[in-house]
Amino acid sequence: MIDLKDLEFDELQAFLKELGEPKFRAGQIFEWLHKGAESYDDMTNISKATRAKLSETTYVSTLKIREKYVSKLDGTVKYLFELPDGNCIESVVMRYHHGITICISSQVGCRMGCRFCASTIGGLYRSLTPGEMLNQVIFAQKDLGERISNIVMMGIGEPLDNYDNVIKFLHNVNREGGLNIGFRHITLSSCGLAPEIKRLAGEKLPITLTISLHAPNDEIRDTIMPVNKRYKIAELMEACGEYAEISGRRLSFEYSLIHGVNDSLENAKELAELVRPLHAHVNLIPVNKVEEREYKKGTDLEINAFRGMLEKLGINATVRRELGSDISASCGQLRKKTISA
Ligand code: SAH
Repeated sequence: MIDLKDLEFDELQAFLKELGEPKFRAGQIFEWLHKGAESYDDMTNISKATRAKLSETTYVSTLKIREKYVSKLDGTVKYLFELPDGNCIESVVMRYHHGITICISSQVGCRMGCRFCASTIGGLYRSLTPGEMLNQVIFAQKDLGERISNIVMMGIGEPLDNYDNVIKFLHNVNREGGLNIGFRHITLSSCGLAPEIKRLAGEKLPITLTISLHAPNDEIRDTIMPVNKRYKIAELMEACGEYAEISGRRLSFEYSLIHGVNDSLENAKELAELVRPLHAHVNLIPVNKVEEREYKKGTDLEINAFRGMLEKLGINATVRRELGSDISASCGQLRKKTISA
């Protein structure tokens, strides 16, 4: 059975043509699917005969809200969604001045093994389909009754480890008649798969790419991010440079500050020299405590000193504001609790 949300628009058109449907049918069905239809019965402007024909080989995928938490502090909403096969993923909706942003997952689990991250404990179960990524936006929006205008791919999983499905998802989520979210309102975060970063440059999608760097040199990065054993920082930076050049987009770097590991002023100086050639912005994230991990964040004073050093050296840096701290909004934590329960 085919989930029609896994098809790109031209594939959907070709599929429906095969079934003998008129050309306008693809647009109608695309619209229904993306505004949250839960079955073909919802599609009232499509004949019963056509609906019956579609049901023979295809289905309308849905996502069940298994748990939902709303922060009393800032309105952040965290969803634990259940996939049709029983696996769970997390999505977080954040309210900013510039609109509503959803942070979505790209895989069930992750095989990148970053030492400080909750999502990678237990490894990778499977990658999400394009439809499953779309459904997080579709069903969160439907539940909220408000338009979601921005997407960050910073939930569970490594998006570039699920490359083809992510590209299909991006094409579909951007399309008019569907969710119509501008590429400039989409951020993709990667731990640094250098070949895929280069490949992504060739897609010519004006999305924002952000790289989880977390260390200013190979010695430190090797100890916290196994991906660095495959692609050293020099190779990663080369890929980033190529991405910036081909796409014409400035990228940014994520840097989780882990006390005593990567947060000395010496580390800040090294980081400044590393990112300077790319004119990149640095997002500092005080590391979130994960039960199974011993990593801790520094004091506010230390965090500000690190940021101050970067600024002094001419690097744009911000400390990420923590949202939803009362609902354990950081990714991977809810799903993990559910698996072990
Ligand atoms: N795999 C992608 C996207 C998912 S992680 C990536 O690596 O970028 C989203 C961000 O949260 C990444 O920058 C990740 O390194 C960071 N992160 C993971 N666990 C964290 C923790 N305990 N504290 C702070 N940041 C964390």
